[in-house]
Amino acid sequence: MRAFTKKSIKDLLQYEPEKKLIHQIVYNIGRNGYPTFEDWFDKKQKLNIDKIFDCNSGVKFDWSEFGNFSKATSYIDFISPSNRFMNSEEDIIDREKRRIPRIVDGGSITLGSFRRMNSPSIITLYLDNIQISFWTIIFKLICGKKYKFTQEKIEELAKLAIYKTLFHELFHLFIDAQSYLSEHFKYNFEIDETLAVAFSRIQIGYETKNHSFISDYLDLAYSYTSDGYKDWVNYKGEEQFIHKLIEYIAIDKNLIDLGQEVTPIVEGLLYSIIENPNTEVNILHS
Ligand SMILES: [Zn+2]
Repeated sequence: MRAFTKKSIKDLLQYEPEKKLIHQIVYNIGRNGYPTFEDWFDKKQKLNIDKIFDCNSGVKFDWSEFGNFSKATSYIDFISPSNRFMNSEEDIIDREKRRIPRIVDGGSITLGSFRRMNSPSIITLYLDNIQISFWTIIFKLICGKKYKFTQEKIEELAKLAIYKTLFHELFHLFIDAQSYLSEHFKYNFEIDETLAVAFSRIQIGYETKNHSFISDYLDLAYSYTSDGYKDWVNYKGEEQFIHKLIEYIAIDKNLIDLGQEVTPIVEGLLYSIIENPNTEVNILHS
């Protein structure tokens, strides 16, 4: 599989440049009138959590003091999503399940969501939720693994926190588009989420260098426990992922029986749809 081009990510985030999103998550900059986190870092640009977090009793502040009114309190709220919108009326009418639901990953506690194509599709990133998920993972790493984080490392991880959700929702967009191409496709919630998580993790792999603080961060961020999501570990290898994807999008078996190699076709489809997404990225708070 290929990595996304930087240009395609930049184009997607055009109205909210990546740096601005990182600054909001890491320093709380850009939230009018609310205090920033800049004093969480010392003069040597090292993170010092003494004033904000206690390894035994948890956070020493209320997120709302910083203008974050999310209902979530921890990254755990996002690895066991149980409050998803299930079938809307419209989806019940679609008994054949020829299309994905109108909104995927919706619900009150979510990092992102995808609304299927309706000129265009919409990917929403919920920045307050991403901020809470992000910082509670950082606190856990500091307490459990004794990491000392610099601003540079924290910013690097915050970028991955944004990409993680963006890649996940882009996979739903791919499935939305290909449902118009494959006559035999049937939406399956669990397989869809399994592959969305696996796709996100594989793509994040292209963005990261081999550092233990990064792999420890990602291990927590991807430690899903709910049905569907948690099965991504079976498809973290690219080969397993593509194989399952070929099966899911239901490429006509006759083509395979004729001896045509379909892996490059599916990889090409995946890449070309995601590099040319008919979508808008919307940034919301909680
Ligand atoms: Zn999803």
